[in-house]
Amino acid sequence: MTQKLLGNLKKGLFFIISAPAGAGKTTLTRMLTKEFESVIESVSFTSRKPRKDEKEGFDYFFVTKEEFEKKIKQGDFLEYAKVYDHYYGTSKSFVEKNLNEKKHVVLVIDTQGALKLKNKIDCTYIFISPPSIDTLRERMKKRADIDDVEIEKRISWANEEMKQILSYDYNITNIDLDQSYEELRSIFIAEERKVKNLKNWE
Ligand code: 5GP
Repeated sequence: MTQKLLGNLKKGLFFIISAPAGAGKTTLTRMLTKEFESVIESVSFTSRKPRKDEKEGFDYFFVTKEEFEKKIKQGDFLEYAKVYDHYYGTSKSFVEKNLNEKKHVVLVIDTQGALKLKNKIDCTYIFISPPSIDTLRERMKKRADIDDVEIEKRISWANEEMKQILSYDYNITNIDLDQSYEELRSIFIAEERKVKNLKNWE
């Protein structure tokens, strides 16, 4: 029997992280994938255009609306949703391949997509909340790539997303990034140690 802090299972576990834009979900998830090679973030498909500094195959697989709709018909997605007028979807083959390669797969997706997977797959649901809606607005204003109209659109969507929190297993209120990260990694470590995973232990 081997014993690592994380990455002891023959088949990886599945995690969903949702949060309103600006709550810190991407930063926190990337801290986790940097610390643990056994954790991988699922790369989604999207029909939106890449932002400055976004890389194909790392941030997203960028496709046209038509290509995305073709993939829907082919059944390529575990779930998909339309967020802010653009399609976003989780690739079935990406997830399955990585779980079989002993990776814990993290889906950073919106609440609509997350709820579609509820009761369909065995998964841990984590919600990251901002300290307040005002903090969220301030954080968004610091980003150069979105204007005031887009910010208000996202704030109203954030309010909708916050209503779904009771469907999640865990909540992390991201006031202090280092503490939030400590909380997030503890959840991953605890999930791996659940007794039901003993038969899956390497
Ligand atoms: P952004 O355009 O800022 O990268 O993402 C917008 C929203 O879409 C975020 O809430 C993000 O988590 C969500 N999202 C990204 N990928 C997926 C996906 O594959 N499925 C769903 N349902 N939402 C996604």
